[in-house]
Amino acid sequence: MKKRILIIGGVAGGASAAARLRRLDAEAEIVMLERGPFVSFANCGLPYHVSGVIPDEGSLTVASPQLFRERHGIEVRTGHEAVAINAAAREVTVRLADGSEQTEHYDALVLSPGASPVRPPLPGIDLPGILTLRNIPDVRRIREWIEQHQVKRAVVAGAGFIGLEMVENLHLMGIGVTVLEMLPQVMPPLDAEMAWWVAEHLRSKGIQLALGDGVASFHQTESGGLAVHTAGGKVHEGDMVILSIGVRPETALAKSAGLALGPRGGIQVDASLRTSDPAIWAVGDAIEVTDRVSGQPALIPLAGPANRQARIAAASICGHPARFGPVQGTSVCGVLGLTVACTGASEKALERAGITDFEKVYLHPANHATYYPGSSVMHLKVLFRKSDGRLLGAQAVGGNGTDKRIDVLAVFLQMGATVHDLAEAELCYAPQYGSAKDPVNIAGMAAGNAIEGLSPLTHWHASRDGALLVDVREPDEFAEGHAENAVNFPLSTLRRQWPDLPRGRTLHVYCGVGLRAHNAVRLLRQQGFDAYNLSGGWRSHAAAMATGKG
Ligand code: FAD
Repeated sequence: MKKRILIIGGVAGGASAAARLRRLDAEAEIVMLERGPFVSFANCGLPYHVSGVIPDEGSLTVASPQLFRERHGIEVRTGHEAVAINAAAREVTVRLADGSEQTEHYDALVLSPGASPVRPPLPGIDLPGILTLRNIPDVRRIREWIEQHQVKRAVVAGAGFIGLEMVENLHLMGIGVTVLEMLPQVMPPLDAEMAWWVAEHLRSKGIQLALGDGVASFHQTESGGLAVHTAGGKVHEGDMVILSIGVRPETALAKSAGLALGPRGGIQVDASLRTSDPAIWAVGDAIEVTDRVSGQPALIPLAGPANRQARIAAASICGHPARFGPVQGTSVCGVLGLTVACTGASEKALERAGITDFEKVYLHPANHATYYPGSSVMHLKVLFRKSDGRLLGAQAVGGNGTDKRIDVLAVFLQMGATVHDLAEAELCYAPQYGSAKDPVNIAGMAAGNAIEGLSPLTHWHASRDGALLVDVREPDEFAEGHAENAVNFPLSTLRRQWPDLPRGRTLHVYCGVGLRAHNAVRLLRQQGFDAYNLSGGWRSHAAAMATGKG
């Protein structure tokens, strides 16, 4: 008998599920309900249409209702909001734009309602000009506001991915931006000392950063602008406010159906994306997934997982065995010419999860051979299990090629690889693309050397406990700046001078980025010294000092 499949939500997860359902079942009646006016649009492109980098609004729409109908025989109903689910009767109550209601029967139901921007009930939150970004009508509102109010200055509250993408686009429009962030860092998925490079870059572009202070209330100014008052007593003024302080899974419908929610507040699903009701599947930002590294439930609102989940839910509905695995949050963001990317766990996430068996390595390699014009430095942090070298997470900030390194590391992490596998990775190389020893290889080699005890690592935050700091850079570099109480034993003369180093002391050896220190540590350990490489060298020192990890 012909199945009737209803899908609630017509964007990333919903539209993908509909398309695959049709490919797997040519006969099923497939109806997609979307409360908004558009389906299958590119949420991820929205910030770039605000500035006009993506000039044509139409190009944000991947597939129209007409295409769904004519090519795939899928019925798309926009302006249809599902307001309740009667799971026992397998019925959905749908509200139309005119307020009337209909009841729709289903044999299988897919929920892909997404996540909505958080709008906390703060005083003044409903003032005009406090805007969020989730869909095409939101972009229209933001563009109209900018045009009608001749916006010169904006406050962006929240320095995560969407917030910083909005910063970039407002800045491109010549609008002055203040970024307000409750945490003492930008880009919360990163560790603070990695996010520091992003903050420095933003400041260098003239973006005002107000970190470590949350929004308390909003007020209208006498000139008709907006004033954002913070918990710390500061006031930031602008002609508009973009609120990007996170998203919350849309679970009202799931609750109406009596579906189980997980501990993080998302819809609970099994590996085939089936909810606690056997006829209802759920995908996308609204569901809880398993974090690959910690094994704990997590909310990871990203387009890649939503699309892959949709494929698997469709397969499961059509009787094909399929399983959705854990998610590791691989993500990337462009910030005014800088690429910021990460995968797996951050150091703070490991600490939150109570995981203590880990070590980290910092690198500051060039993105490609430095003798080929146009190379740039990237900052890389790789976290791995100390006991067996298993990869746990990676973060990178830099120019061209930053995303490539994180993608490579993401696949390794997903496959359960170790840092020894990174050292052995065979990656493509020509001087304009990389180095014969790619940053991924070097991270694996440095981590492997640490695990094997050949060149054990230490870090700036652990470098003071009675250890002697040995700076192996050249005297001119030492004169320009060095760690307090450090002694200068340049690598170039260390083979002669090492007998002058005190015996019986732990030596924390550093150079510019870690390579000369590695050579020095090898020499010193072979002479019987208890020597450690200060990972990331003097370059990591700046970030460590700025974030209190020094
Ligand atoms: P959505 O795509 O949000 O779709 C849910 C739809 O369901 C909505 O259109 C909503 O109107 C509809 N709906 C909800 N409730 C009902 C109801 N009761 N009845 C009918 N319809 C309903 N991710 C990345 O990986 N990379 C990026 O660069 C990136 N950039 C982004 C930029 C922006 C500005 C935004 C907002 C998101 C971005 N994301 C990005 C996240 C990504 O878009 C989401 O993870 C993805 O869209 C989730 O898919 P979804 O189907 O769960 O939800």
